Amino acid sequence: MLPPNWRSPAPGPVSDTLQITEIPVEGYERVVRGVDPSCGLHALIAVHDTTLGPALGGLRMWNYASEDEAQFDVLRLAKGMSYKSAVAHTGLGGGKAVMIGDPKTIKSEALYLSMGRLVDSLGGLYTTAEDVNTSIGDLEIIRRATKYVTGLSRESGGSGNPSPYTAYGVFLGVRAALGQAFGDDSPKGRTIAVQGVGAVGGPLAKRLLDAGATVYVTDRNEQRVADLVAQGAKAVPEAEIMGMKCDLYAPCALGGILNDDTIPKLGAKVVAGAANNVLLKPEHGKMLADRGILYAPDYVINAGGIINVSVEFHEGGYDEQVALSKIERIPQALKELWTIAKEEKIPPSDAADRLARRIIAEGKAQKA
Ligand code: NAD
Repeated sequence: MLPPNWRSPAPGPVSDTLQITEIPVEGYERVVRGVDPSCGLHALIAVHDTTLGPALGGLRMWNYASEDEAQFDVLRLAKGMSYKSAVAHTGLGGGKAVMIGDPKTIKSEALYLSMGRLVDSLGGLYTTAEDVNTSIGDLEIIRRATKYVTGLSRESGGSGNPSPYTAYGVFLGVRAALGQAFGDDSPKGRTIAVQGVGAVGGPLAKRLLDAGATVYVTDRNEQRVADLVAQGAKAVPEAEIMGMKCDLYAPCALGGILNDDTIPKLGAKVVAGAANNVLLKPEHGKMLADRGILYAPDYVINAGGIINVSVEFHEGGYDEQVALSKIERIPQALKELWTIAKEEKIPPSDAADRLARRIIAEGKAQKA
């Protein structure tokens, strides 16, 4: 179902140069390639699974070396969105879109209109949103060619910037992780290291400071660090943050940061942060567990943003209170995963995937 407050889009210029081809991929409902030589569009959309609802996932622009590389990425990300939405009970499925090219040079109005038409060609099976190298301004252009766009500004009837909601969910998840590891979920008196204090890590660090934690921060953006130091945080060099002896490490910058090199050096007893795909490979979840480090699976703890966007699909449209109450269920989801992990003797990251697959399978069984 579409958000009821969506306006019917003004028709975009018709293109007879957009060529759309299907790419059959096992395990995926639809994968399409869109090529439009008139504006340089070369894009892929992957719809992984719509059992639980229409596929939602961001539109990424990246200078992939080849279409194979782009396809690998879009398939991986689309499946990740299915799992994330399933565990967060957003009532949505998973999909993703990628545009191939250098964001510094290929962006144009014609490109986004053509991308909008590609999204539109799926008839609502996939709805797009902001992602790496795309902005709300870009989405506003896409919106002229398709109504299947979320995450627009509040003024345009959307749910607005997701980051504060992601930060809120991560904060609640950090509390749950402290409770699980130490028997007390209060951040007061705890030492917490936050790596990356941008749109999510910044508000997270602030909430932790307000809750009485000792907060160590690092960021390549010195101003962001200085702002938090002025509010009581302690600055730490980038090279030292992961090895710091502390209660909890919150990765809020890069993906792939937990790997063979870094896990043996981790100084924290708990890892719980916003960064997506924080484990370089699935086996790194086991490596953390073997070291006795509690892990809050990334796509579960950082689901606040997608939960917020998903409320656009509700009857009556976006409602912040509904979004907040759903985000407040993140701690419960994490506790469920830690219980599964303990009972089945598997790492929490594997428990999350298992739970997601189970929820989707149950959805399929109900539909059958
Ligand atoms: P952001 O770009 O606003 O912030 C990231 C910060 O990390 C920046 O300030 C950057 O300078 C800093 N940084 C980059 N490399 C660093 C390094 N090596 N060491 C220290 N700092 C470094 O991004 P964001 O929106 O806050 O997202 C942070 C992470 O959370 C990303 O992995 C993102 O995929 C994930 N995430 C974000 C959202 C959201 O709603 N914004 C939702 C889910 C997941």
